[in-house]
Amino acid sequence: MSPVAAGLVHMELNRGDGSIGTFVGVQAGLAMQSIAMLGSAEQKQRWLPGMATVATLGAFALTEPTHGSDSVALETTATRDGDTWVINGEKKWIGNGTVADVVVLWARDTADGQIKGFLVEKGTPGYLAERIDGKGSLRSVWQAHLTLTDLRVPEPNRLPGARSFKDTARVLAGTRNAVAWGALGHAVAAYEIALAYCRQREQFGRTLVTFQIVQSRLVKMLAEVCSMQLICRQLGRLQNEGALTDTIAAIAKMNNTSKARQVIAEARDLLGGNGILLDYHVIRHMADIEAIHTYEGTETIQTLIVGRDITGVSAFA
Ligand code: FAD
Repeated sequence: MSPVAAGLVHMELNRGDGSIGTFVGVQAGLAMQSIAMLGSAEQKQRWLPGMATVATLGAFALTEPTHGSDSVALETTATRDGDTWVINGEKKWIGNGTVADVVVLWARDTADGQIKGFLVEKGTPGYLAERIDGKGSLRSVWQAHLTLTDLRVPEPNRLPGARSFKDTARVLAGTRNAVAWGALGHAVAAYEIALAYCRQREQFGRTLVTFQIVQSRLVKMLAEVCSMQLICRQLGRLQNEGALTDTIAAIAKMNNTSKARQVIAEARDLLGGNGILLDYHVIRHMADIEAIHTYEGTETIQTLIVGRDITGVSAFA
């Protein structure tokens, strides 16, 4: 599939439901891309075909209870003991963490202090996953809190291409553009629902679309949707040419999730009281975009990535 085709699929999944989009983002994005980009030939052959058909479920465990935006400072440790690694620590927000057959787990090597990636297979003793309940967003996909206690992972399950956090960041830069496409899907859904609603809803004896202010609001929403589409199209083109940079992907993620939030908020208001009813879907998109705005790096973190690139100065800390 071309990058634009894959992006369109991601857009459509999120246009339907953010939880489905997020599930695919974890499976086909974070987990599969980690193995595809950083795994050995044997690891790729063993895991990727099953993951591509979703016969095998994957997860990506980077975030910790005390390290989200600064996951570069993660505290989960990996200590080599002969032919195995002993891993201890905690992870939070791990999509598919309770159900995955293979978890791409990131931990700090106690010998050299570098972040390394490990493939943890289902049923490994020392792996405890608890579902995070009480979410108001992305309610039909599960994330887990992981506790890792003397978890033993054989050396052949270490990702050979993951030598430092820079390699982890390469995976995240690659998946960030999918989040931009997903945000576009939420904005398109909200815009279309609002337009259809305003066509049939009557107030003051006229349908809402006959009011100039309503038309103006719909047109501004459409203009934002079009600008998001153009950014996504350009992402696809650059990916095709192998020219997509971290900075461009960060701008796209930052811009599209922020703009999607605005478009959805307008749609929510245009539906009046019905805008808060789940039957009309906009409120679900509104709740879902909040998580998407946060995960794979918040708007602020994307801003800091771009700011560092254009000024040459890191303002992270
Ligand atoms: P924090 O890092 O605590 O940020 C809180 C606030 O502080 C934010 O507004 C942030 O922008 C701001 N902030 C932080 N640092 C700075 C700074 N230097 N300057 C200014 N402001 C700053 N992780 C995984 O590893 N795997 C997954 O599958 C996964 N799935 C997720 C699914 C969902 C639904 C959610 C909500 C999260 C998921 N995550 C996952 C974790 C996600 O990537 C983090 O939540 C995200 O990176 C933010 O980290 P945090 O929640 O710890 O917030």
